[in-house]
Amino acid sequence: MSKLIGVFGGTFDPVHNGHTKIILNLLQLISFDEIKVIPNGVPPHRASIGSNNDRLKMVYLAFQGINQISIDEREIHRKGPSYAIHTAREILNEFREDRIVWIMGSDAFSEIDSWFEWEEFIDLVNILVMARPGSKIDTTSKAQSLIKDRQVADIGLLEEGAGNILIVDIDPVNISSTQVRKNIGCGEGVGDLILEDVSDYIEAGKLYTKNI
Ligand code: ATP
Repeated sequence: MSKLIGVFGGTFDPVHNGHTKIILNLLQLISFDEIKVIPNGVPPHRASIGSNNDRLKMVYLAFQGINQISIDEREIHRKGPSYAIHTAREILNEFREDRIVWIMGSDAFSEIDSWFEWEEFIDLVNILVMARPGSKIDTTSKAQSLIKDRQVADIGLLEEGAGNILIVDIDPVNISSTQVRKNIGCGEGVGDLILEDVSDYIEAGKLYTKNI
C-alpha cells in the first residue's frame, strides 16, 4: 500500500518550538506515515549563522521522540545549493509508490515563484501550507493565483496525484528563528521559544551570541 510522506525543509537556524508545534499539530490532523525533516545546506562562508553540523544536531534534539519523524541529511551533505526540486526528484525516485506532500509556512509559500525551477516543482508534489502570523499571502502575488487555480479543500486529495495546494488551519505559532537569534544576541531569554535540549546545545556552543 502506498504511503503518505511529508517533507518539511528549512534552515532551522535554530530549530524552534514553532517548527515542532506545527508538525505535532499536523500529525493530529493528517495521518502521515512519515514526515522527513530536511535541514538545508548553507554555504560555509555564512559564518554568522549556525554551521551545518550544529543545525543538524539541534534538529535531531528537537524532533527526537516523535515517532513519525525522520531526519533526512541529504541536503546537508549535497554539494551546491539545496534546491527543493532536486530533493523532490530524488525522493520521488526512492518512493515511487508513495505520495509526497511538501509542508511549508505561508511565508515560504508566498515566495514560491522565486524557487529554482518552481513551475516544475509545483507539478511534482502536493503542497501543504500553514498559516504563519504576520505572513498573509499577498492578494496580487503569484502564490495567490496558484492558490486560486490549485487549492483543494479535502485533505484526502493529498493522497492523489500532484500539483494540489492544501491550506491548513492549525493554531498559528508566533515564533521565528530570527527572533530566537535576536534574543540570544541581546542576552534575552529564549525559554518559551525553543526546547530545553536545544537551548542547552546553543549555550554550550555559545551559538548566536553575535547575531543581533
Ligand atoms: P528565519 O526567521 O531565520 O527566517 P524561520 O523561523 O522561518 O527562520 P525556517 O527554518 O526558515 O525558520 O522555516 C522552515 C519552514 O518552517 C518554512 O516553511 C517556514 O515557513 C516554516 N515555519 C517556521 N516557523 C513557522 C511558524 N511559526 N509557523 C508556521 N510555519 C513556520
